Parts: sequence; structure tokens; C-alpha cells
Amino acid sequence: MDMPDNVLEDSLLHKAWRVMVDNLEEWSNLMRQNADTLVLEVMEKLAALVTEKRASRKVYYEEHHRITNEVPRLQEAVAKAKANYEQALDQYKNAKTKYEDHYLKGKPGRKLEELKERYQKSCRKLHQLHNDYVLLLCEASDYERDYRTVLLPGLLEYQQTVQEDMVTKWSNILKEVCELTDSSRGRYCQLQQQVAAAVDTISPAAEYHSFIDTNRSMPPDSITFEFCRELLGDGVGSLQAGQLAVDSLTVEALKQRLASLEHRLRVVSTEHREKQDLLNQHEAEVANIKKNASQDFNLTSRLSVLKRASDVLRRELNELQCQESWLQHQQQLIQEPLTTLGCEEAPQPWEANNQINGDAKLTRCNSKSLLSLKSVNKGQQSGHIRLDSLSLRSRSSALKDILKKPFHRTRGPGHNGSESPASTPPTPTRAGTEEPPGGDVAHTSAPDRPDTASPAAGGGGGVTTTTSAAKTNGVAQLTYDPERQLEDEPWFHGVLPREEVVRLLREEGDYLVRESTRNDERQVVLSVSWGSHKHFIVQTTTEGLYRFEGPAFPTIQELILYQNSCALPVTNKSGAILRAPIFREHWELNNDDVQLVEKIGRGNFGDVYKARLAGSGLDVAVKTCRVTLPDEQKKKFLQEGRILKQYDHPNIVKFIGICVQKQPIMIVMELVPGGSLLSYVRGNKGKLTDKQKTSMCRDTAAGMAYLESKNCIHRDLAARNCLVGERNIVKISDFGMSREEEEYIVSDGMKQIPIKWTAPEALNFGKYTSLCDVWSYGVLCWEIFSCGEVPYQGYTNTKAREMIDSGYRMTAASNTPKTMHQLMLDCWQYEPEARPHFDAILTKVDNVYNSL
Ligand code: ADP
Repeated sequence: MDMPDNVLEDSLLHKAWRVMVDNLEEWSNLMRQNADTLVLEVMEKLAALVTEKRASRKVYYEEHHRITNEVPRLQEAVAKAKANYEQALDQYKNAKTKYEDHYLKGKPGRKLEELKERYQKSCRKLHQLHNDYVLLLCEASDYERDYRTVLLPGLLEYQQTVQEDMVTKWSNILKEVCELTDSSRGRYCQLQQQVAAAVDTISPAAEYHSFIDTNRSMPPDSITFEFCRELLGDGVGSLQAGQLAVDSLTVEALKQRLASLEHRLRVVSTEHREKQDLLNQHEAEVANIKKNASQDFNLTSRLSVLKRASDVLRRELNELQCQESWLQHQQQLIQEPLTTLGCEEAPQPWEANNQINGDAKLTRCNSKSLLSLKSVNKGQQSGHIRLDSLSLRSRSSALKDILKKPFHRTRGPGHNGSESPASTPPTPTRAGTEEPPGGDVAHTSAPDRPDTASPAAGGGGGVTTTTSAAKTNGVAQLTYDPERQLEDEPWFHGVLPREEVVRLLREEGDYLVRESTRNDERQVVLSVSWGSHKHFIVQTTTEGLYRFEGPAFPTIQELILYQNSCALPVTNKSGAILRAPIFREHWELNNDDVQLVEKIGRGNFGDVYKARLAGSGLDVAVKTCRVTLPDEQKKKFLQEGRILKQYDHPNIVKFIGICVQKQPIMIVMELVPGGSLLSYVRGNKGKLTDKQKTSMCRDTAAGMAYLESKNCIHRDLAARNCLVGERNIVKISDFGMSREEEEYIVSDGMKQIPIKWTAPEALNFGKYTSLCDVWSYGVLCWEIFSCGEVPYQGYTNTKAREMIDSGYRMTAASNTPKTMHQLMLDCWQYEPEARPHFDAILTKVDNVYNSL
């Protein structure tokens, strides 16, 4: 409005504004003049009126007083006239008596004349006073009557007229005020009409007809929010730029996030709907008011309220729509991979890409063997039975049909046992590769247990595995026995950890069933090798049936057999087809095969027992894992078994198997009867010769040289973690911290590190190599020669560390052969590269041994 007129010449609003401003000015001048008149003249008149009113009031009171006072005055006058009357009467009577007496006596003369005159005089006076009295009484009576009936009412009437006159005057003054202040008439009215006419010309549409064209500017350049690929560099695990990581670490959080998004979306949608409804109502009401074209002020103001409310609603709806849209987008972003995941178990982070993206990258599969398996199960595909829409009853009978037929499983040669120790005889665990040629044989008996020998038992006293497959060359048939429990199925692997499972599933279509726990809930999981490794959680329906995406069955066995025989994908998304059930490995023992005999030690995860293996009667050592430990710890516990499983050396404690069929999970090892090396040397202090001690050092060096050749870093080599067997043979044990890597960098803290046995570079930088084991080996030799003394005796871990960093090295116990102490010092070289490797150590110790 402050703009010059020429700029806004087209603006009707501006014109109206000008008219209003001008008219309002005149209007206010008029108002001011009238206000002045009001103050000066009208107020003066009002003041005069008030004075007049006061005067009339005074007059009234005076008059009232005057006429009222007349009554007592007359009463007084009457009383006085009466007294005079009485006095004159007495005088008259007296004068009359005297005159009559004198007259009767007949004595004329002067006296008589005087008496006669006195008599006449008193008579005249009496008559006058009589008349006065009569007249006065008349006057008083009249007045008294008039006072009551005429004078007082008359006075009041007069007062009324006077007041009425003044009211008229008052009214006239007020009329004058009205005229002065009335803005609806006269000039005011003219001004008002002019303004109203100008305002009427205002048209929002005309006013802003070119607004957008005039004001449109180029929108700001759009900003792209993109995932910074540099963050991932050469890759951070399975994380993909711009893609959600849906894996076992995130799936729960994503589900929660999804639930919260859905909740927010519901809230926003409800708000959106409610506001839209309200807007519709407003619009309907506006249309109605407009249709009736009412000039009613209330309706007009209602119209503007509605208009304003509708405008606000429209703006809010816009915003809600945006909110809804990005919430939907986020929901979709999370829901899609979760839906795609379906009943699949969330992949481990390192498998995530393959799982979620359906990427057929073969991370752990042999692609050649995949190619060779392309046509497997084709015959079954063509003859498969679709059960999706069948009722449970017909499903069961359809399943029976399927079950009548043998399940064919082909296996390419050379598939067997690549993970088995070299000395282990070939095991027929992968469906029948060892069987002689022959036809398909249906096998319906309970699991047979003929075939696997434990490596420790040298093929003789081994443990049997459960199987329900009869095996022929390259063909295995699964059988279904309703009596058999899931746990007894040969393809059920109990709580075998996922890491272990994926090692077993090597070829396309290989599958097994296992158990896992999530949020304290037991889940049965089908693991399949299909491109990558896929894990499907068996879903339970409300009726207690089991299913994946297809039909549901009363038992998991039937579900798996159906899935196996129909050759349909477990889930559409995965496309995974079950081809070959993978039976339990020879080292997957039944918990019931192990009879605990006595407790012989206590480990980090649980007690250690001497035990007997059912069937073979072999004495073994069994490490148990406390049931209450969290899953993560249980995995760590099994890690030792997984590592030990691969080694076969006389100086390494032998692995026999693991029991994961149920809790508690256990690792079964050869029983080393002498117990721990530390207690052995302590217990035999003074009895062991230098040669025996050197022999123990040699045994350990031999075991460690073997481990180094296998790229295994023990990380916890110490006398307490070695066992002493028959003829004092030392066997390295306790592989709980071991890693199969040339170099292992610890990134998750160094909590339970045996400081006094650990090399400086591992303590300072978390960098582990076999040369760290060499350092520990030096300490272990020191322990042997000192018969189990505590290294750096009397010093705390921190102090010992400081001493080592500043160059201190332990002296050897007395009688330690110099060469052995020199070897220890070599092992304790600060720079790892300066330390000898185990093969060199073995040669050295061997020489020392031979020289003794
Ligand atoms: P953890 O590694 O869980 O701490 P250890 O390997 O130290 O458990 O075993 C604890 C104790 O159990 C050992 O000190 C030893 O006495 C005994 N022990 C462990 N393994 C065997 C075995 N194979 N033969 C005989 N005793 C064993």
C-alpha cells in the first residue's frame, strides 16, 4: 500500500484502499467536529438542565413548606380568636349585668349612661370578635380542606409538569448528541456508501490474475541425497550403497521399524481422511450458504470462517499427503525385502547380498558343480503334483502317493568328505557316494547306524550316525516313517551352527534341517544351497500345521518330503528347490550316544567330563557348554570343535565329534589321561629330568609346527592349555581362541588376554600371527623348566608388560639347559620377524633332546 499509485494502478484493492483512506479521513474530521460540539454545547446544556432541575426541586420544597405551615398558623389564630372571644364575652356579660342592675335600680344619670355605653361597647366588641372568630373558623376549615385536597396535590402536579418539561429538554439534548454521533446518516452515510462501493469492486481473482506469472521464479536446483559410496570404499562386509541391510543383525530392528512406520502411517492416514471429510463438509456448507445468497451477517462471517478453515485444511492435507507418501515409501523400502525374505531366515551379514538381492553370486559354492547339476530333478519337475489348493485330507493322500515312490538323489563323483581329516576313511554321509552300483531300493526301516568311524577311534570305535536312507551308487532314497521323530531324521542337524551348516551344503539343491533360536524361541530352519545359502524358517499355522509358502502338513518331516518330491521352490522369491538331503556328518553325534562318567575339569564354558561312547565303549573327554549361555557364547564354544575337527596330529588333542542334537551341546575329544600340563609339571616337581622336560617342549613344538603349517594361530598357548597323555606325550588343547588365518587382527577388545603369555605386538596392536604363538611357546618352555612357576612372579600383568617393553626378559630356572634358555630368549625377540618359526624351533629342540 505504500507503493506509488502508478505501480498499483491496476489494483482495485489499492483503489478501494485509497477511497477508504480518504473517506475515513473526512469521516474522522466530521467525527472530531461533532465531538467538539458535543463537548462544548451539549455538555453546557446538560449542565444548565441540571441546575434547573436543582432549582425546581428547591422551589418544590419551599412551596411545600409554605402551604404546610399555614395549617398550624390558622390553628393558632383560631385558638387566639377563641380566647379573645371568651374574654370579650366575659366583659360583655359583666357590662350587661352592671348596666341592667343599675337600670333596674332606676337610677338614671351619668353612671347609667356610662354603664350603658360600656355595655354597648362590650356588646359591639363581642359581636366583632364573634364575627372574626366565625370568619376565621371558616377560613381555617376551608384552608385545611384545600390543603389536603388541592394545594398538596396541586404542588405535586406542578412538580411533575416541571420535571416533564425538563425530561423533554433532556431528550432534546440527547437527540442532539445522537445526531452528532450518528454515523449512519447524512455525510457519514455518504462516506460509508462510497467506501462500500469501492470495497465492492475488490475481486481476488482480478487482483491476482497475473500474480503467478509475475512472481514465478526459477525453482532452486534440486539437491540429490545420495549414499556416499566412499563410505563403503572397497566394501564393508555385505553393506551395499543405498540399500537396506537386511540380515540377522538388522531384521528384528527393521521389523520394529516397519511396525512403527505402519503405525505412523495409520495415524497420518486417519488424520488425512478425517481432514478430507471435514473439508468436504465445509465445502458443502459453503455451497449451501452461497446458494441461498444470504446477506445475513452471521452467515457471511460463517462463510469467511469456513473459507479460512478450508484453506488451512487444504494446506494441511497437502502436507499430510507428502508425509503419507514418504512414510509409504519408507514402508515399501523395508517391507519389500522383508516380504521377499518371507519365511526365509534373515541371512548372516556376510551372506546378505546374495539372499536379499536374489543375486546368484556363489560365495561359498563350487560353481562348476553347480553347472553340472543343472538338469537334476527334471523328471520330477514334469511329474510333480501341485498341492497348493488341495485340502489337508487330499494333501495327505497326495503325499502318500508321493511317498510310495522312492526319492531319487543323484550325486556326482568326488563330492564326498572334502572337509574330513586326511586320515579319516571316506564317509558315506553325503547320500550314497560310496555305494556299489545298483537299482533304487526303497528303505522303510528305522534309521540304520552302520557306517561312520570316529577319527580318534581309528575307524574302529567310532560313533554311528542316524540315517533313513538306503544308499546305492549315486542314488539315495528317503523314506517316511510316521513313528520317527524329527530329531531322528538323518537330515536333521540339531542346533548345528549356521557357519557349520553352510560348510555342509556344497552343491545346488543340497539341504538340511536344523534348529535355531531367536528371541528365546525355537525355530526349525531349512537350509538350502541355491546360488547362495538360503535359510527358511518353518512356519507354523494357527492349526498347528507346518508350511513354507505352499501347503501345510501335520509334521515337519512330511513338509520336507513334500518339498523334496514336488520339486517346487520353497519360496517363489528364492526359487530354491530341494534336491539332496545332507545327512549328519560322522562327527555330528547324538547326545544320547555319550554317557558322562565323571567330571574331570572345569572349562570356561562348562564342565569337562570323562565319558563313554555308546556302541564303541570308547573313553572320551567331553566338554559341555552351559545351557544358560547366550547363543553367541555357544557359537564360540563350538568354534573349538570346528577348528579341531580339521587337525590330526599326535601332539594335538583329537576331535571326535560334537553333540548338537539337543542341549547341552558338547564337544567330544580324545581323553588325555594325565590332565593339564601345568598341573602335571607342578605335581612332578623334582621328579622330571631335563630330557623329559625337553621332550615335552619338543612335543609342543611339533604340534605347533603342524598348526603353523595349517595357518592356525592358537593364541592361548600355555602349560595350562596342554594335556599330558600316556608316556608323557604332550598334546595341545584348548583351541577356544584359535583362528585359522595367517594374521588375525583383534578388533573387539582384548578382554581375556593372557597378558604374561602374549607377544607385545598382539598386546599393543591386536596383531596375531604364528610368531605370537612362538612368544607364548617360549613362556611355555619356561613354565616346563620351572616346573609350573608363575611367569614374572610377583609382578602384575601391567608391570610385566612394561618390563617387557623396556627390554626385560625372564631368566631361566636353575638347571635349564643353556640352549633351551637361549631358545626362550629367541622366542621373546621384541620384533616378531626376529623370532624363529616352529619348524626351526622343532629342529633346535630336537637337537637339544638328542644331545641330552
Ligand atoms: P576351556 O577351554 O573350556 O577353558 P579346558 O580345555 O581348559 O577348557 O579344559 C578344562 C580342564 O578339563 C583342563 O584343564 C583339563 O584338566 C580337562 N580337560 C580338558 N580336555 C581334556 C581332555 N581331552 N582329556 C582330559 N582332560 C581334559
